[in-house]
Amino acid sequence: MPATMKSLRYPSQLVEAQLVSRDRLASLQNVAARYAVAITPVLADLIDASDAADPIARQFIPDERELQLQPEEKPDPIGDGAHSLVEGIVHRYPDRVLLKLVNACAVYCRFCFRREMVGPGRGGLSRTQLAAALGYISRTPQIWEVILTGGDPLLLPPRHLKEVMARLAAIDHVKVIRVHTRMPIAAPERVSDALIRALRLGKATFVVLHANHARELTAPARAACARVVDAGIPMLSQSVLLRGVNDNVETLGALMRALVECRIKPYYLHHADLAPGTAHFRTSISEGQTILYALHGRYSGLCQPHYVLDIPGGYGKAPIGPTYLSADAASVTDFKGVRHAYPPRGG
Ligand SMILES: *Cc1c(COP(=O)(O)O)cnc(C)c1O
Repeated sequence: MPATMKSLRYPSQLVEAQLVSRDRLASLQNVAARYAVAITPVLADLIDASDAADPIARQFIPDERELQLQPEEKPDPIGDGAHSLVEGIVHRYPDRVLLKLVNACAVYCRFCFRREMVGPGRGGLSRTQLAAALGYISRTPQIWEVILTGGDPLLLPPRHLKEVMARLAAIDHVKVIRVHTRMPIAAPERVSDALIRALRLGKATFVVLHANHARELTAPARAACARVVDAGIPMLSQSVLLRGVNDNVETLGALMRALVECRIKPYYLHHADLAPGTAHFRTSISEGQTILYALHGRYSGLCQPHYVLDIPGGYGKAPIGPTYLSADAASVTDFKGVRHAYPPRGG
């Protein structure tokens, strides 16, 4: 696909591109009026419209069920608001902050936990707000790490990103910068040399790629990640456990292997948050644990992400992976599922 082709942003364009049938137009217009839609050319091209269960379509094409709210779903499902005293900053853990520079993304995931906060035209931090956010970071010496998220921070023009990275690099106590993005997958051509040079300006910088299915790692996406890693920037990944996208061990294992083959270390597998209108994406925690248990049994240690839950209300993340040790530490289960006694004074 030529890089100049535009993203699909309206249900009418999805109908024209034959990604959804015309009889869904009116209902999807209702969804699009509520939650932002954007599908980049690369991702539109990846959708198999003949497969009603296509995992790429499921992640990005709006769905009528998004307007069905469950009582447990919240506009701010992980309670960021309670920890945001300065616009653009979320400071929940003592040693690290989120810095949200932009509120837009190249592609809008239908299960996004910030779906009430993101969209085109939501803007980002103004110069004054950015100065205030950087001021907060400079006068808070316990902040060791700054996590750029959003919105997708790599949507910023390289020149602007470079300025932010330089200003963060100038703060002595900030030693690590983490950048969370979907750009290498959504718009690999935007991961340009200028963008990578901007990323290298900071302190130790890590790029965390958001990926949920092995098919997202197209040849151009892999090449974009290789440019980042070759520039000396380590990459990690985060994924969301999603019903109908990756909720079985083979699909999840294939994703983790594809990431590791790209020199990307799987970091987190998030249990899907209680974001509004996303019940059709959620598995139960016990289903998640069963899948993770099988993943541990069958795949390399490099392919193992931490299965985490963001506790509703703003209390932070908790690892919820299955445990292999019995509660009394008297036995432990091996990768084949066989239980072994462990001596009482062993540990
Ligand atoms: C997820 C998150 C982080 C990062 O947590 P790690 O466990 O270090 O990856 C930091 N701050 C907030 C507010 C978060 O939600």
